[in-house]
Amino acid sequence: MDYQKILNEIDSELDKGKFGGKVADYIPELADVKEDCFGIHLCSLEKGNFAIGQNEQRFSIQSISKVFALTMAYPMLGEKLWKRVGVEPSGNPFNSLVQLEYESGIPRNPLINAGALVICDILISKLQNPKQEFLEFVQKLSGNPGIGFNKKVAESEKETGYRNVALASLMKSFGNIENLVEDVLDFYFYMCSIEMSCKELSQTFLLYANHGKHFVTGERILNASQSKRLSAILLTCGFYDQAGEFTFKVGLPGKSGVGGGIVAVFPEHYSVAVWSPKLNKAGNSVLGMEVLERLTTKTGLSIF
Ligand code: GLU
Repeated sequence: MDYQKILNEIDSELDKGKFGGKVADYIPELADVKEDCFGIHLCSLEKGNFAIGQNEQRFSIQSISKVFALTMAYPMLGEKLWKRVGVEPSGNPFNSLVQLEYESGIPRNPLINAGALVICDILISKLQNPKQEFLEFVQKLSGNPGIGFNKKVAESEKETGYRNVALASLMKSFGNIENLVEDVLDFYFYMCSIEMSCKELSQTFLLYANHGKHFVTGERILNASQSKRLSAILLTCGFYDQAGEFTFKVGLPGKSGVGGGIVAVFPEHYSVAVWSPKLNKAGNSVLGMEVLERLTTKTGLSIF
């Protein structure tokens, strides 16, 4: 399989200007990102690295960070984790409040905002210096100590993230948040503000292609069962209320973020990240979805 040839073909065949979408502007700091940024990086377990465009430029990973938070919290709590957060797709927007009221403050899954806030609450309870230790964990997973938060993005979201305030407060009223709501939100906004490139994301996500073992150091981060379960959640819940459509078109587990990044994993083979900031109504990168659909179509390889 010549991945570089396939990526080159996808890049040259895509009439990028033809695709619509809108850069996320509900977080003021994200509104300034240039909408024509574009990068792809594919990291194969056997064949190395393949790339197109701005694959080394860092951007706001936003919800993709929720995968790393889950990866850190899951081994700490084990299966007890699932008492506080479910494993079902929500079928609702990522920041929706309605379901949470009906379901007594237990979020559908750890990848919607409410679920990620619960994971943040768990990490705050378990860690001495949550922001610092979480960042170090991501740096370790990625093998890159240069990765950091973007304070401006975090503070900008803090000023405007009223829905997240509502979600955390509602869950606190149901007893599913242990710490102060403002502490949970502060940690959550910083977590979402982490910046990484497609190259760093695809290298980090090799962990999930490698059954929970760090590809470079060999360190076991998740046991095989935890890695299976986390990947299952990526498949069923990783794309907001478009998880069904992503699986239908692409056929790989993955996660998107409103910064325009998407990372997908082909277990035992590769992980691939795409960045293009223009989003569809569900919050997924329009070009990102298109690229990945073409990748699994051209290679004829998906998990199905
Ligand atoms: N920080 C964003 C929010 O809470 C994350 C959204 C996302 O990427 O899905 O709205």
